[in-house]
Amino acid sequence: MATTLDPVLREQLLDRRQLLQRSITGPAPGAELIGLLQQVDQALERMDSGTYGLCQVCHDAIEPERLAADPLTCFCLDHLTAADQRALERDLHLARAIQGGLLPKTGASFGPWQIFFHYQPAGLVSGDYCDVVDAGQGGLYFMLGDVSGKGVAAAMLMSNLHALFRALISAGLPLSELVTQANRVFCETTLAAHYATLVCGHASATGQIVLCNAGHLPPLLVHGNEVTEVPSTGLPLGMFCTQEFALSHLRLETGDSLLLYTDGLTEAEDDAGTAYGRERLGRLVASSCGATPADLLAVCRKDLDAFRGSAAIRDDLSLLSVSRTA
Ligand SMILES: [Zn+2]
Repeated sequence: MATTLDPVLREQLLDRRQLLQRSITGPAPGAELIGLLQQVDQALERMDSGTYGLCQVCHDAIEPERLAADPLTCFCLDHLTAADQRALERDLHLARAIQGGLLPKTGASFGPWQIFFHYQPAGLVSGDYCDVVDAGQGGLYFMLGDVSGKGVAAAMLMSNLHALFRALISAGLPLSELVTQANRVFCETTLAAHYATLVCGHASATGQIVLCNAGHLPPLLVHGNEVTEVPSTGLPLGMFCTQEFALSHLRLETGDSLLLYTDGLTEAEDDAGTAYGRERLGRLVASSCGATPADLLAVCRKDLDAFRGSAAIRDDLSLLSVSRTA
């Protein structure tokens, strides 16, 4: 199977070749550099002969994500050497640990607010984004998002979003400006095919919440046994550089909470291929009105497990509850 070759890639490889050659003309070129130059030349030859991007063992297309990460790869995942497979596995476990380190602390309190979350990658790393940042004066920022795609590429974009929001929040921008700026940077630095749905909120000590929902699933506002969906107010991040984002304004009373989730919950399928769905989630939350926020997350997970039965977990799952405790 032939792959479509990105013309930019050839340019990039030629650039690398030039840089390598410059290093090699020094007094004592290392064997490693010479080996790399040979690999670049071989990749260029494969481009000329039309075999670039094909596994040298099975001749199937190499996974595009891996090829993008390492343009010199010549084997698909199935045909890596045992040593290469072990190295890849070590990398993935390290990536998982780094991603875990980016998560907020579940059960943390900020003035009258308390947050709980559940973060569960489908594989070793997740494309879901979940963060909470202290806004001072008893307030907080909370973010829950879902980057398009899965695996390592999505996890890289997720960590990009994490850094971006952390930086913009520390600049003290108002929420709409925050999301507009994040969108612009995300647009300018991300491949055209990638985007992220996201809910970003600011909760203040008085119980007011300002919410921006960029194409994400509607959070649930839980007030006693009343459950209301807060609809999306815009397109996902990364679609258009200049788009603007509308805000929703809510007020939470003591005991109320906001439940945010990714499609790993509502689009999970049972054995027969039926989706879990927003209606089932709404009913479940309404019937669990006495539960604490931590218990509510546990109830959701248990119901999802019961619904899914033996069907495989296909998507990353994240749940975030923001509740007013005082
Ligand atoms: Zn192969």
